[in-house]
Amino acid sequence: MASPHPGMHVLCPVCEGPIPDLLGELTDDPAAINAGSRATDCYYCGAPLICPGLGSLIVAAGQPPPAKRTAQKRDIKFGDLDGIDAWRAGMEQALQDEANNPNRDPKLPSITKTTMVNKFGQRPFEGYAWA
Ligand SMILES: [Zn+2]
Repeated sequence: MASPHPGMHVLCPVCEGPIPDLLGELTDDPAAINAGSRATDCYYCGAPLICPGLGSLIVAAGQPPPAKRTAQKRDIKFGDLDGIDAWRAGMEQALQDEANNPNRDPKLPSITKTTMVNKFGQRPFEGYAWA
C-alpha cells in the first residue's frame, strides 16, 4: 500500500524539510496514515505529521501517538540503511524534474526546495531512531 504523497511542494511545517512522501508504509499502521487519521513522525525533525489531503501537512496534536517506522519495514523497502541514500537521490531528482517541468499545473504552489534537507541542515533519517 502506498503512503500518502502530500505533494512535491510540501514542506514539514516545523523544520521546512521537503516531504513529497510521508513513507507511512515503513510503519505498522500505513492504512491509518493513508486515511489521514494517524500521524507519523517527520523523517527530519520527528514532529508528528498528518496528511489530511493532497497538498497539506499539519502537525498532529494529541492521541494516538505517531506511528513509528521500523527497521524491519525499512529494510524491506530499501534493502538496508544504505538504501536510503539512493531513495533520497531519487527524490531530489524527482523534485528537480518537477521544478523544471514546463507542463506543471500553474495552479500548484511552486517547488521551493529541490534538496532533501531541512532548515537545520538535517537530511531524512539522519540520526533517526528506528523502532
Ligand atoms: Zn520536520
